[in-house]
Amino acid sequence: MVTIAKEVNLSQAEVQLKGVVAGAGDQYLPVAYSVTSRKRETADTVTLTLKPKDSRSSVCPRPRPGQFNMLYVFGVGEIPVSVCGIEPDGALLHTIRRVGAVSVALCDSKVGTVIGVRGAYGVGWPVARMRQRSLIILAGGLGLAPLLMLIRHVVRCRSDFADITICIGARTPQDVPFLREILSWQRLKYDAGLFDVRLIVDRADRDWRGEVGVVTSLLPRSLTAPECSLALICGPEVMMRHAASDLVRLGLSHCDIYLSLERNMKCAFGLCGHCQLNRYFVCRDGPIFSFEKVESLLNVKDL
Ligand SMILES: Cc1cc2nc3c(=O)[nH]c(=O)nc-3n(C[C@H](O)[C@H](O)[C@H](O)COP(=O)(O)OP(=O)(O)OC[C@H]3O[C@@H](n4cnc5c(N)ncnc54)[C@H](O)[C@@H]3O)c2cc1C
Repeated sequence: MVTIAKEVNLSQAEVQLKGVVAGAGDQYLPVAYSVTSRKRETADTVTLTLKPKDSRSSVCPRPRPGQFNMLYVFGVGEIPVSVCGIEPDGALLHTIRRVGAVSVALCDSKVGTVIGVRGAYGVGWPVARMRQRSLIILAGGLGLAPLLMLIRHVVRCRSDFADITICIGARTPQDVPFLREILSWQRLKYDAGLFDVRLIVDRADRDWRGEVGVVTSLLPRSLTAPECSLALICGPEVMMRHAASDLVRLGLSHCDIYLSLERNMKCAFGLCGHCQLNRYFVCRDGPIFSFEKVESLLNVKDL
């Protein structure tokens, strides 16, 4: 590296960047994908199915549950979006809420629109640590999207885990994403172990027959074996902070509680510093962190 720098007179930062990009392969370059279907989930949320535009071109590496891709709308910009599913033919599913320039452009993109995809980035959920444990999965709003692949895995491999409690919250009944799939999980019956899927809304309407309140109110009142339990949480940061503190009070260890964090990102591979959270880069060291690592940072206002 030093030799290259001397030969072409590059700064240390340029050498580092070239090293990352040169050694990285396709994961660091956008690949052209086409939108092959577009499904409205709620009033402001859409799921896009993306397939490589050209069958001969390279494809992004297969993402693990909890990882994200950078989606690039040509001429508008690029944002991180979690992968919420992979079709049998390898097509990628992303669910996007319209909040600003890029997410609106993605939500409005028609079938056939070509977008750039690079990834998969970030560490995923700790799947290897989950085996034979009781799982408490907590999703607030669109926080269900980064958990969706993980829940599908848990449903498919039910016997690999002990008790399973899934708590899902949304602002109103109209804001519940993936409702049909949630209802299908609620109908599942297994021979052994608890499999409890609960749905709650902050504000109900007259037709709502389900529970009303904040999602953290669905957490179990006590745990029989907290030392054998693992919690996986994604949603607004204030919800994750409260949920994690409640779980610690129930006896879970800080290192057995995992949260998925969101920060503004640009490069997505730990170089630019946009998503820096003290000593961590959320894109590279996260977005999934144990509560043990980030508890003190989450308590610092505006960090
Ligand atoms: C690892 C990771 C995974 C993510 N996964 C998803 C996902 O699966 N689906 C998804 O829809 N989004 C996801 N996001 C959030 C998404 O990246 C942002 O919504 C996006 O960057 C906003 O960019 P924009 O250009 O649309 O809006 P901007 O123009 O950047 O923002 C417009 C306005 O919206 C506000 N805003 C920005 N982000 C949010 C937000 N998340 N919620 C509410 N207001 C916001 C801004 O403060 C600003 O006021 C993820 C983010 C990260 C870091």
